[in-house]
Amino acid sequence: MTILNRRCVVLYSGGLDSLLSVVIMKNLGFETIPLFVKTPFYDKDTNSLKKQLEPFDVELAVKEDFKGYISMLRNPRFGYGKNLNPCIDCKIFFYKKAKELMEETGASFVVTGEVLGQRPMSQRSYTILRTIEKQSGLSDLVLRPLSAQCLLKTIMEQEGIVDRKRLYCIQGRARKKQLELAQSLGIENFENPAGGCLLTDMQFSVKLKETMSKNDEFYNLKTIELLRIGRHFRIDGFRFVVSRNEKETKELFENFDFLPLVMCLNEPGAVGVFLKEPHMDTIIKGASIVKRYSKKAQNLIFKGSREFIIDIKPMRDEEVNKYRIGGVNA
Ligand code: SF4
Repeated sequence: MTILNRRCVVLYSGGLDSLLSVVIMKNLGFETIPLFVKTPFYDKDTNSLKKQLEPFDVELAVKEDFKGYISMLRNPRFGYGKNLNPCIDCKIFFYKKAKELMEETGASFVVTGEVLGQRPMSQRSYTILRTIEKQSGLSDLVLRPLSAQCLLKTIMEQEGIVDRKRLYCIQGRARKKQLELAQSLGIENFENPAGGCLLTDMQFSVKLKETMSKNDEFYNLKTIELLRIGRHFRIDGFRFVVSRNEKETKELFENFDFLPLVMCLNEPGAVGVFLKEPHMDTIIKGASIVKRYSKKAQNLIFKGSREFIIDIKPMRDEEVNKYRIGGVNA
């Protein structure tokens, strides 16, 4: 049996609900350790998270386990949401990281900003919240200050470590009560709740799913970064990414210049990168796609283990679409 103390780990995402939970626990007199769990798909600038927490005199802890997350994502026990978001398993993963930190720091329970009924998958019902607790080995040791008064009493409340009367009964998707609470607690600097997780994005999920089917590419963090940008093609088994605008062209040059690429020789235009050195036929097809998206281009150049100039016509759209991953608008 856990001996309760006045130290807790708060799962922290940078959003308003988790920030409210940090402040509530601080105001209740707990030693509060906010934890941000980084994933390849939900990444935040930890410096700005730290800055956001500065007024509350707490120190942010950060954990990341990229391989562990990918392995969960490949085969989530509770399945995916609308896109490739395995929200229930993802929450179990976060809870487990919080449990690790709890054990490392001697804290005795975990706090989250979850609100009952707020999200369709992981916060849909109390039963699901309890399942997530159980699966992560945190049964009865998770306090949700924003919804606590409309949930069963936790051990922390039963034992009188946490005063239930000073917690809340917020439910559902509306944000009004959280905003009022933020105002009453003097919280001004917080993020808009929408978005943030790439796994809920349809286009990203299509590209990721295709990538996941190719084992050789998937365990590469850079590949996943690349999924955020460009038009994606699969040519003769080789993935090829072509920039959509000047910003992406710059990004590909700056962050992926170690990959074989096709670019315009003298004029401004798109750039395309292969994840690994392709055969000559494939390079030519890739160059023809780059030309399609580079209106001013004359000659192109391939830069890989060797360099050579390519003079080729732009590929027709119907053919381009045959190679495209994720549909015509991807
Ligand atoms: S939206 Fe993304 S980060 Fe949030 S629980 Fe779902 S998979 Fe995890």
